[in-house]
Amino acid sequence: MRVLMIAPPGAGKGTQGALIAAHFDTPHIATGDLLRDHVARQTELGRAVQHHLDRGELVPDEIVLDMVREALVAAKTAGGGYVLDGIPRNMEQARALYLIARDLGMTANVALHLQADDTELVRRLLARAALEGRSDDTEEIIWRRLALYHEVTHPIVDWYKQRGILVSVDAMRPAEQVGREILAALEAMRPLVDLVPEEARRPVDLTGLGVAFGA
Ligand code: ADP
Repeated sequence: MRVLMIAPPGAGKGTQGALIAAHFDTPHIATGDLLRDHVARQTELGRAVQHHLDRGELVPDEIVLDMVREALVAAKTAGGGYVLDGIPRNMEQARALYLIARDLGMTANVALHLQADDTELVRRLLARAALEGRSDDTEEIIWRRLALYHEVTHPIVDWYKQRGILVSVDAMRPAEQVGREILAALEAMRPLVDLVPEEARRPVDLTGLGVAFGA
């Protein structure tokens, strides 16, 4: 299974990404984690990107795309599945990522969109700040990251909708419920993804199904 995730900060990309990757036994490629690891190790790349991360700004596209190309090549060797978490974050990245994946014969089967309200996201991120102390989890930077999400990341959702690979879930509920719903949807789609061409597929909107999944 090849999944990419689009979600605002705090929606649970990291948690759900790890769950999906474990379930399908694929690499979990989280760009934020990879970048923070470079910063922690003070690599050349880490020194170049630290101020972007601290300010809640996007790191230049070429840096992230090179990092992800390398990770996708490794994922191909590992069996070809992946969960991408944190990329694409703007339309340029979405197009570039598509070309990279197409060259490797590994375009995404599913674009998973996690939806949540800004007030809930800020509440979660401030709670996380108290526990983890991430340099970009201050209230001012959180609002900046959310504004950036609405401005440049959210518009790419429509692109995946048109391609017929979009699956939208309501991420306002507890993580276990959201995770159960995601895995149920992906399991239901698994036999189809390699058989039904993208142009013959339809987007799937599960955001109104909370009750059916025990919300
Ligand atoms: P969040 O979704 O909570 O902002 P991430 O861990 O996904 O957390 O990203 C943290 C930071 O890493 C971003 O604010 C940005 O500076 C950088 N980053 C991650 N992915 C990308 C990307 N695809 N393009 C540019 N910058 C990125």
